[in-house]
Amino acid sequence: MPNVPITCAQLEDPLEVISSLAALQLRVFNSVSIDRLTYSMEVTPTSKVALITGVTGQTGSILADLLLGLGYEVHGITRGSPSDVPTRLAHIMAGHESMKHRFTLHHCDILDIQAFSEILLATKPAELYNLAAQSSVSVSFKQPHETFRVDGLGVLNVLETVRLFLPTVRVFQASSSEIFGKATTSPQTETTKPHPCSPYANAKLVAHTLARVYREAYNLHVCSGVLYNHESSRRGGNFVTQKIARAAVKISLGLQKTLELGNLDSCRDWGHAKDFADCIWKMMQTDVAEDFIVATGETHTVRDFAKKSFAVVGIEVEFQGTGIHEVGLHSKDGSIIIKVNSNFFRPTEPVHIVGDASKALQKLYWRPSYSVTELVEEMVSAQKKEISKEFELDSLSNLDRPK
Ligand code: GDP
Repeated sequence: MPNVPITCAQLEDPLEVISSLAALQLRVFNSVSIDRLTYSMEVTPTSKVALITGVTGQTGSILADLLLGLGYEVHGITRGSPSDVPTRLAHIMAGHESMKHRFTLHHCDILDIQAFSEILLATKPAELYNLAAQSSVSVSFKQPHETFRVDGLGVLNVLETVRLFLPTVRVFQASSSEIFGKATTSPQTETTKPHPCSPYANAKLVAHTLARVYREAYNLHVCSGVLYNHESSRRGGNFVTQKIARAAVKISLGLQKTLELGNLDSCRDWGHAKDFADCIWKMMQTDVAEDFIVATGETHTVRDFAKKSFAVVGIEVEFQGTGIHEVGLHSKDGSIIIKVNSNFFRPTEPVHIVGDASKALQKLYWRPSYSVTELVEEMVSAQKKEISKEFELDSLSNLDRPK
């Protein structure tokens, strides 16, 4: 591959260099030799400045809240349209001046190297949290290419950009418990052999490995947090926990008859996203970058999560039958409120996913503060508020309709 000439004038202007490189996309990173060290001396990260990719997601927005609370200047990246105010960030953007002024939302796709490099150089963060991802396992079976592009190639873009332009920044890579999939050991630790069983898990394993490679090969401060399922009232409605919390409230109010679920025997180690954000921040404060399992160490079935959720709205569910014929009955009148629908089954499922976060306890003094019961209560209570607001709005808009 031919060398691409870079002029002295361009070297004085980082943005010029990026433009030349980005025009040639990734292959340029292999063929152009830039004096990375000299270059990086001019671009020193600013302390207490953080950049979060995927900031409009559940964990990104919770992390933004945490960092703003700690006094950081926070920059977030979203792929969304500049005209939209992302719901999960509305409270920051419309909030108190002291917070609002320290938060900036940037619009870019991490697959766009030029745009991402420009933001990295303009903001010069001390800490970069890479949370941008296609985060649904079931979507990954339908859109494996897109999942690989964002969750695999996207991470490579972030790491390459850091290596070339801001190698002193600390990087957090959001890894996933899904990489263990059909692992034969349980609970899993940082040394458990991965065995992914979905395109999502596969892409996340590529990213997890890349993070280690960049740490070892280039001495970058990159740590991966192997995050087990983490939920909150901000969880997307396509995840089973939020789907259950919402349905429990709607069924209790007579707004829905039944909840249809897939595999009720599926088990997950469900923690609270606020606890996880805290652990993510803690691992970025250590001088030596390492990987950490972030988990509660407890596992629950989907059935159990449903039972707990309905209990919060005063409904006791009794399960009867097996497999596809299993149903959840309202204990008061015997009506069917939960059914199994095979459309929600996945081609493969992780076997026994539960994490051992002893290393995080020993080295970061981190342990989860929320129990699964508290998590369920919070999610169901938030749905109660949400649904009553929607219901009020609905009845108000009905008043306006012509009779
Ligand atoms: P994931 O662990 O990232 O895939 O999180 P999800 O919340 O999407 O799924 C957790 C588990 O719940 C998986 O084992 C699913 O197969 C199972 N599950 C059972 N029924 C449903 C359902 O209706 N929707 C979803 N999303 N998952 C379901």
